[in-house]
Parts: sequence; C-alpha cells; structure tokens
Amino acid sequence: SPVAMNELISLVVDSISLQLQKKNAELVLVLDADPDVVIGDELHLSNMIYNLIDNANKYSPENPKITVKTKNLANGIGIEVQDEGIGMTKEQTKRIFDQFYRVPTGNLHDVKGFGLGLSYVNDIIKQMNGTIRVQSEKDKGTTFVIHLPIN
Ligand code: ATP
Ligand code: MG
Repeated sequence: SPVAMNELISLVVDSISLQLQKKNAELVLVLDADPDVVIGDELHLSNMIYNLIDNANKYSPENPKITVKTKNLANGIGIEVQDEGIGMTKEQTKRIFDQFYRVPTGNLHDVKGFGLGLSYVNDIIKQMNGTIRVQSEKDKGTTFVIHLPIN
C-alpha cells in the first residue's frame, strides 16, 4: 500500500530505535521532501530505509552519527543515508550490491549479517526505475544517494 515518505521514515526509525540506542547513535533527520509525497510500496520502501540505517549503525564505531535526508527533485524524490563509520575502499564498494558479499570488518569485530540487505535494496530500487549510488572513504564514512522517480 502507498504511504507518505516522511511518515514512513519515522516508522522505520521507531522500529530500529533499540539498535540505535545500544550504540548510542545520534540520528539526524533532514526531511525536506514534500511530506505527503507517495512513491511506492510501503513494505519495500520501509525495508530499503531500514537496511540502510541498519548498515550505517552496524558499520560504525560507538556513538555513530547517522543522517537521513529527503528532498524533492524535478521528477521524483532524493533520499540520502550518510554515516561517519568505517567506510570502504573503491574496490569494495563495487561489490556491495552482490548477494552474500561482505567486507572484512577488521577491528570492528562481531558485526553480523548475511550480505543480502543491499542486493535487496538494489532490486527494489531497480523495480521502481530509481537509482542508487554509494560514496565511501575508508575510515571516513559512507553515503548512499537514492533517486526515486514519481510516476
Ligand atoms: P544483511 O544481509 O544483514 O544486511 P550485511 O549488512 O553484511 O548483511 P549488506 O547490507 O548487503 O549485508 O552489505 C554488504 C556489505 O557492505 C556489508 O557486509 C559491509 O561490509 C558493507 N557495507 C554496507 N553498508 C555499509 C556502510 N554504511 N559502511 C561500511 N560498510 C558498509
Ligand atoms: Mg546490511
């Protein structure tokens, strides 16, 4: 079912708040998109945002700062999920949308996962004719930039 984007993000943030609290994360929301904009399937979009915030939290040291932004674009909506965590090399970012690919996390031990979250995110975005790209720098952080068109 369709749902307004900003409301959806609030619901996802609620559902992940325990994990964020455990690491004492600071979540900054800059929701500048039209609050009522509807862009697609509620479940898929929630899972997309959930996976990205979960990753931002998991692949950061304690007290992570995570920023989620939305904005209106000419033909759709822009979403960014940004962290200041462990980051990745360029070679690693090329493979993160592959099923089961995981980057060795080095000194940030015991980070669990299957390597499936981002391949799912990528599939959802393709289904909506959207785009996702990743900017990352090792030990500096990572930003996922998403564009979803509105039909
Ligand atoms: P899960 O299936 O539970 O999501 P996962 O988190 O390992 O497992 P993905 O979400 O697909 O799988 O991410 C793939 C890999 O990309 C991760 O294992 C991690 O190495 C890297 N990665 C993803 N997001 C980030 C991020 N924000 N910062 C640093 N590395 C990341
Ligand atoms: Mg993940």
